[in-house]
Formats: sequence, C-alpha cells, structure tokens
Amino acid sequence: MTAGRKPLAGYRRIVVKIGSALLVDRASGLKSDWLSSICSDVTRLKAQGAEVLIVSSGAIALGRTVLKLPSGALKLEESQAAAAVGQIALARAWSESLSRNQLVAGQILLTLGDTEERRRYLNARATISQLLKIGAIPIINENDTVATSEIRYGDNDRLAARVATMTGADLLVLLSDIDGLYTAPPHLDPNAAFLDVIPAITPEIEAMAGGAASELSRGGMRTKIDAGKIATSAGCAMIIASGKTEHPLAAIDEDTRSSWFAPSSSPVTARKTWIAGQLQPAGELRVDAGAERALASGKSLLPAGVVSVTGHFHRGDTIAILGGSGREVARGLAGYDSEEATRIAGRKSAEIEAILGYAGRAAMVHRDDLVMTGASARSEQNDVSEQEPLHA
Ligand code: GLU
Repeated sequence: MTAGRKPLAGYRRIVVKIGSALLVDRASGLKSDWLSSICSDVTRLKAQGAEVLIVSSGAIALGRTVLKLPSGALKLEESQAAAAVGQIALARAWSESLSRNQLVAGQILLTLGDTEERRRYLNARATISQLLKIGAIPIINENDTVATSEIRYGDNDRLAARVATMTGADLLVLLSDIDGLYTAPPHLDPNAAFLDVIPAITPEIEAMAGGAASELSRGGMRTKIDAGKIATSAGCAMIIASGKTEHPLAAIDEDTRSSWFAPSSSPVTARKTWIAGQLQPAGELRVDAGAERALASGKSLLPAGVVSVTGHFHRGDTIAILGGSGREVARGLAGYDSEEATRIAGRKSAEIEAILGYAGRAAMVHRDDLVMTGASARSEQNDVSEQEPLHA
C-alpha cells in the first residue's frame, strides 16, 4: 500500500458513493449479485469496527427500466416520476440485501437545502447520527422526486462529499466506472499517467479533471475533483476507485488500482476559525463554573449549566458563551432557539421533553459545533473533537 494510505478498516467512518451504472443495467434492471457483493464488503467493514454510510445513485436509472421508458434525455417531470418509482425499488433492494447480512438499512433523501442551510443541516446530521448510533446503514440519495434544476445537487459525487463533511467521516469512496485520476484523458492521450496518491488538490490537479465547460469532464472527473475539494478540506480522505467488479471495497484493500486524495492536515482549525470568525453572534449564553470546566475539557454544553440566555436566535445561529466573569469563553452553534433555550436553561436534559413537549437534543451546544475562544483556550485550538463520533 502506498505511503499515507491504509486499509479501509483503519478508517472510523466511511461514506461510499455508488454510481448508477454499477447498480443498474438498462435492460435487466438491478444488478443484484453486485449489490450483494458490496453488502458483504460493508458487513466485513462493520465487523472490523468502521461505520459505513452509502450514497446510492440509481433511482432514475432503475425507474426508467421499471417503467420501460425509451432511451434519451428525460424531461424534468419524467425524471422526477422515474425517481419516485426507482427510489422505492432501490431502497427495498438495499434493505433486503443488507438484511441477509443481519444489517438494517435506513433511507435518507436529501434536498440541497438540507446540507446548505445550517438549521436543516443540523437536523439531517442528527438523524444520520442516530442511525449510526443504533448500528443501521444509512442509504442516502438526493430526493430527485422534488428536486428541480435550481434546487439540486445534480450529481451524487458532491452530495456524498457534503454527507461526508456533515457526518465527520474520515473517508469518502467514490465508486464508478472510472478507476482514478490520470494526468490526461487516457483514451485520448497514450502518455496519460495514473496517479495513485494526490497529496493536495492543486490547480494542476484540477486542470487534469478538465475545465467546468469541457466536453470531457461532463458528469465525470470534474464533479469527483469538486467532491475531493469539499472532503479533503474538511479533513476527510477520498478514494476514487472502479466498482466494475464484484466486491469493489475488498478490491481497494487488495491493491487494485485506485486514486487516494490526502486529507488536509489542519481541517479542525479551519472549521474552528469559521465558527469563531462569525462577526456578530446572535445571542449569548451565560454558563456556570461547572459548565465552563466541562467546555474546556471538550464536552458539549448541556442546558443544566446555562445560567441565562440573551438575544434572539434560531437553532443553528452562532452564539457566544460567557463564563462567570462575563468574558467570552467559547462560541458555538445553538442547538435550540432562544425562546426554547430560555425555558430549558438550568434544567436537566431529562426534563427537556416535559418542558418543551418534544424530546429535543441533550446538548444546548454540541461539542462538534463549539470552539473555545477565551484566552485560556488558545492552547487547545488543535484538539480533535471534530474527529470524534457525532453523538455526545
Ligand atoms: N440521484 C440520481 C439517482 O439516483 C443520481 C445522480 C448521480 O448519478 O450522480 O438517480
């Protein structure tokens, strides 16, 4: 294995994106033998301790086959209808195939706003986190039935990268019919060299994928490199590998050719800088000494430690956290609206449901969304809290 690379089981949380052509044959429909082979790869990885999330394409392709639609471009409403028919069959196939390995599948259909708007992002992340916590395999796709060209990811490469960063995954695997990155299009240039390790996505690497408007890049390498930029800058490694054979994940470990993109070495600082850098926190939480100590040791802020709430904010807004002397000790993204935060401040997490009328989150500010900003915290700017599991 090349320097910097490690076996897949060495990763903690892996997002695997599967291209439509791997799962669906235009004539015969779902490739069920291939599907069971990847389900057994997933089962092996889970047994070795890795968490696995699947971003599965194929809804539109499968729907076309089921509906026997003629080949050629589909109108928007046709592809939405094909997706509606195909997604239900796709989800069922995943669920059945995983259950043969005693694994449970949970379907998540995302629209663009679910990863781009902070509050919806936190909500989607919490659901996925809970699925992982109970040991289920999230099966994720774009909700193509309601996506229109203005409000869609359009390709599952970038969707998978957003899912990887949203869930703090440390590896994103893009499986398609392309085995990796070449210095030039291999079918056009006999001198094209294969790259098995890409330390950083430089402008030269981007140029190899073709410009955005290039005929060659359409639906191919361009979106994969875009996905790589999203993933690696958040500290998540990425592998582009061919899924054309059965057991494609096992094949990566067996040294079948694939391209590995190294994660950025200082991702946590980048995200912390982003939260800490919000110009105007929308509100303030005053916390007690116990909570201040808990925050300093990397824990989430629980309602019990909150003494008072000031300002008007929504869940997902950046808020300042003030210590006993009134100085700012941290910033984070609110887990509750200000009105709800006021009602549960000082109360035990177990009381939240009785007070609010629904079972809310245990944390007022989750540690994944927290950055210490007080002078005493400067030494901890490089902690690894973001690399830990999502659940507190
Ligand atoms: N979401 C689409 C589908 O499931 C696939 C998008 C893609 O292939 O990138 O049909």
